Amino acid sequence: MLNAAIIELGLFERMLPLVGGYLQAYASKDPWIRSSYRFHKHSAVASKANFKSCLAELINLNADVYAFSCYVWNIEYVKSIVRDLASARPSAHIILGGPEVMHQASRYVDPLQRNIAVCNGEGERIFADYLRELTEPAPDYSKIAGITYFREGILQDTPERERLMNLDEIPSPHLMGMFERGYTSAVFETNRGCPFRCAFCFWGAATNDRVYRFSEDRIKAEIDWFGKAGIYLVYIADANWGMLPRDVEFSHHFVQCKEAHQAPVMLLYSGAKNSPARVTEINQILRAADIITSQPISLQSLDENTLRTVDRKNIKTSAYVQVQEQLTSLGISSYTELIWPLPGETLSSFEAGIGKLCRMGTTTIIVYPHLLLVNTPMHNRQKELGLAVETLENGVGKAEVVVATNQVSRPDCLDGMRYFYSMFLLHNLRGLCLLSGYLDRTGRMNFESLFRKFADFCRSEGNSETCRFIDKSIESLAFVEQFNYGKLIHLCLHQERHSFERLIAKFVEQSGFLDDQTARLLYELDRLLLPYVYSSTPLSVDPAAFRIIAPSIAGARSLSISIPPPMEELCAKSLAEHRIANRITGGKLSINHARAQHPYMKSQSIEHNAGYCHGLLIRTDTMMPTCVPTD
Ligand code: SF4
Repeated sequence: MLNAAIIELGLFERMLPLVGGYLQAYASKDPWIRSSYRFHKHSAVASKANFKSCLAELINLNADVYAFSCYVWNIEYVKSIVRDLASARPSAHIILGGPEVMHQASRYVDPLQRNIAVCNGEGERIFADYLRELTEPAPDYSKIAGITYFREGILQDTPERERLMNLDEIPSPHLMGMFERGYTSAVFETNRGCPFRCAFCFWGAATNDRVYRFSEDRIKAEIDWFGKAGIYLVYIADANWGMLPRDVEFSHHFVQCKEAHQAPVMLLYSGAKNSPARVTEINQILRAADIITSQPISLQSLDENTLRTVDRKNIKTSAYVQVQEQLTSLGISSYTELIWPLPGETLSSFEAGIGKLCRMGTTTIIVYPHLLLVNTPMHNRQKELGLAVETLENGVGKAEVVVATNQVSRPDCLDGMRYFYSMFLLHNLRGLCLLSGYLDRTGRMNFESLFRKFADFCRSEGNSETCRFIDKSIESLAFVEQFNYGKLIHLCLHQERHSFERLIAKFVEQSGFLDDQTARLLYELDRLLLPYVYSSTPLSVDPAAFRIIAPSIAGARSLSISIPPPMEELCAKSLAEHRIANRITGGKLSINHARAQHPYMKSQSIEHNAGYCHGLLIRTDTMMPTCVPTD
């Protein structure tokens, strides 16, 4: 009997190792493979796995075959493990799969290594063929379609393997009982493929291609399995959740499952970019059942020239505004995603895009750095588009960060990130949410100029922890890190909350914004409405910040405020416009900060807490305080 080890080094703790499940389930259909192999699944969190003990464990497995699943977040770790494993177990065969290595064998395989191959497509069939061939007395890699390997120092590619059209050919590892209990989150696929061809994307190695589906009965049975197994969080890995009408039915099934088993309670996904109405319908269904979710709206850019350059078409601006209005009126959390810097985008078009989004009522805007991914159309056009990249390696993962394009120099690129951080603090975190809207509406200062002004102001505030964090993130390109934005939230809304508020107060005073009463009132409301990310952060108000409103602490999480009669109507109108409160009576209002927050977990790592903070960033409305009149 041969031993086959499948190794998955993921991003999160206690996440179901789906890749290993699929590979084993498919391969085991073949009676010959079933009787020839004993399978071992090895999974760990890439950033936490101890190298020495992981290597020792793999060596001790004495496996004849090691299969690694490779992504940007684990590729450096895998590379080092493979190097040491190959020298410790020279007779073992090693296969690497995943988007990071497909068609990239020359980057990851030593030409003298005869026993290492790279899988160039969907893994299930190729892995089964590979295992079958390895049972031969003299295995011949050239007989396995879909791989690359070296022979006598020369790279050999075997013919491409076609995609699986009938995904049900892969037996369900969940329903076969292949996973033990104890997992809390799971990646879930209902289909594979994306009909679009955005030049920066390599989703599942199947962009610009047909969408193949798992059958409905199987999907529903797997959803039930999640419920029974107590899976708390499901990440739907489809490229466009909500693109197919049946996704609505599956959402109903998630609800039934939650009602029966109290799980899953949270769903995350990438929404279909051209079906916002159906995605909203899905969110309504989930929200009505108290399943935690948030609607992503992926635009990537608002600039037509950029969208043309990257081969992408977004929904029309009017449709976007309609979706935003609908989401706000239904109380559904959402966030809009952009990528910076995409080719074609200039610093000013990027800034204008963010300003426009704020003007259109976007609640949260997340800007992802542009990572140049191998195998994408963009990667092949790197020179033509003037993409300059810097490689970030931390011994575990590796990212090629785009820092300049034909339109944007490196300093412009970093300045764009500085502008984003500025918007992040004032708009996403609600540092000056009401005041900024007023300044923009009245033409005193538009969003674009305000965010630019605050970005420049922060650059000169070296004593502020918040500004230091931003400076450091920009200098070291740490904005690429998974928990960077979450750490900033932790800092501003918890650890350095007072100094963050002082920073904003200083900026507002220096800018002379408060010389009219309306601006002053809105600024004071902004101070009182600044959300808390943890339920255990002490509630506080700085009396020095208030000249119009008289606030006082009324309870552990609630404030009581008095508004003088001449300002009452204006205050009520502003709060109603932002759907914060419907009315004020007698100039009194109670502000309650007890929402969906959890307490700060001191015993957990900063990464753990930052992950939680990031989770609330995409549902900012769920941490905004509620306001009710005090009769
Ligand atoms: S970005 Fe989204 S829509 Fe575009 S190719 Fe990738 S998965 Fe498809």
